[in-house]
Amino acid sequence: STKFVIEGLKSTIEGKEILKGINLEIKGGEIHAIMGPNGTGKSTLASTLMGHPKYEVTAGKVTLNDEDVLEMAVDERARAGLFLAMQYPSEIAGVTNSDFLRSAINARREEGNEISLIKFIRQMESKMKELEMNPEFAHRYLNEGFSGGEKKRNEILQMMLLEPKIVILDEIDSGLDIDALKIVANGVNAMRSEERGFLIITHYQRLLNYVKPDFVHVMMQGRIVKSGGPELAERLEAEGYDWVKEELGIVD
Ligand code: ADP
Ligand code: MG
Ligand code: MG
Repeated sequence: STKFVIEGLKSTIEGKEILKGINLEIKGGEIHAIMGPNGTGKSTLASTLMGHPKYEVTAGKVTLNDEDVLEMAVDERARAGLFLAMQYPSEIAGVTNSDFLRSAINARREEGNEISLIKFIRQMESKMKELEMNPEFAHRYLNEGFSGGEKKRNEILQMMLLEPKIVILDEIDSGLDIDALKIVANGVNAMRSEERGFLIITHYQRLLNYVKPDFVHVMMQGRIVKSGGPELAERLEAEGYDWVKEELGIVD
């Protein structure tokens, strides 16, 4: 079964330390939420785990099913089953959504075992229907001219087709109206399985009304400073973050 372990992870950007020792263990079947004020390093954690070249790991260990993730190149991490839906998905001019998706799927498969075009189209169309996406999005250039909500739905489409082992969603709920939020949440819930773990990064508790987390962690100043269950997210929503700072004597 899936097991993703982060131990003492530190990372820097342009020489500035952002992650100051992150410890987290995600098993298949579990949903973990990370909440925290802006600028505390949530997106940095996501990007560091995926191997974004801007971030330098200065300490710690990350393993997926006992394999050393930090040793892997970006594409190897994806092949190993890590997936990140980015807070700000990038546009790729000249590459259609369906071409991008099909090559992403094939990049995770052995040579000679590529998905057939017919099978791919059938799968893509059925997932797009589930996400209530306009079929024309298959043929549009990746994220080009997509609204915020369309980009987020498209990230979920990618997740559904790639069937990763560990899913990291970075503020997938931002910019979504309530109907789109429910569709995205349904997509996530449909992908819940004993073999798959989730790390949901969010600023607001809203999404967690629809995707019930097993564990909620509070991140501040590059560290996970508090962990609990769903009730922790509810308290943060009601009372903000100040009480956590007071409780832990954090000054900013
Ligand atoms: P969050 O996702 O929690 O809002 P981020 O991980 O985006 O936080 O940012 C964490 C910190 O890293 C912030 O202080 C931010 O200013 C800093 N940071 C992010 N990107 C850069 C960059 N390209 N250069 C320098 N500092 C950055
Ligand atoms: Mg932010
Ligand atoms: Mg962020």
